[in-house]
Amino acid sequence: MSIVTAPDHPDTLAATPPRMRQALGRFASGVTIVTTADGPDKASVHGMTANAFTSVSLNPPLVLVSIANRARMNARILETGSYGVSVLARDQEPLSLHFAGAPQDPDPVRFVWRGDVPLLDGALVHLACTVQASHPAGDHTLHIGHVDRLWYDHGQPLVFYTGSFQWLETTPQPEPWGF
Ligand code: FAD
Repeated sequence: MSIVTAPDHPDTLAATPPRMRQALGRFASGVTIVTTADGPDKASVHGMTANAFTSVSLNPPLVLVSIANRARMNARILETGSYGVSVLARDQEPLSLHFAGAPQDPDPVRFVWRGDVPLLDGALVHLACTVQASHPAGDHTLHIGHVDRLWYDHGQPLVFYTGSFQWLETTPQPEPWGF
């Protein structure tokens, strides 16, 4: 194994915003749409694309989304106290572009409801969450959600890596959990 060492110079190692983006973009992730609503109709729904999503705890069931303070979604989650997470399948790139502010034609948005929470039809996973805590963290806010309901399906995930969408080829096999 070879280890690459960077010259120990402050400019080379500085954690500036562009270098943070470049470095952390090398952590491959799935892509989600975070949704929230203050009523039972489509007009009350707000959605946005997010990959800063992680599981936090199995018992109790907790997850976390990190939302930019300037995003409209941040204020909406604080108002509604709930959110949904739809983990996108690989054919749902148009949805991720749409909910990142680049509306698509034809309109790819179809919501399904799990209780009071809207989610995206065709996703691999649906989580319906109640906000348990919201922690300011720099220019983002971490919203920890208690998972009240979940649903999942088999399929190929959409992947985000170094600023672009990728596909991951997976082969069906028994799920080897146990760690
Ligand atoms: P807007 O920009 O107003 O809305 C987002 C888009 O969704 C708009 O085009 C709007 O028309 C559409 N939309 C909203 N609600 C509906 C609805 N009910 N029906 C139809 N369309 C609707 N930002 C983060 O803060 N955290 C992240 O983890 C994160 N990860 C990202 C990952 C990827 C791969 C990408 C591409 C972007 C990511 N972003 C993330 C950026 C974020 O998605 C955008 O900044 C987004 O535009 C912020 O949304 P907003 O809440 O400010 O609302």
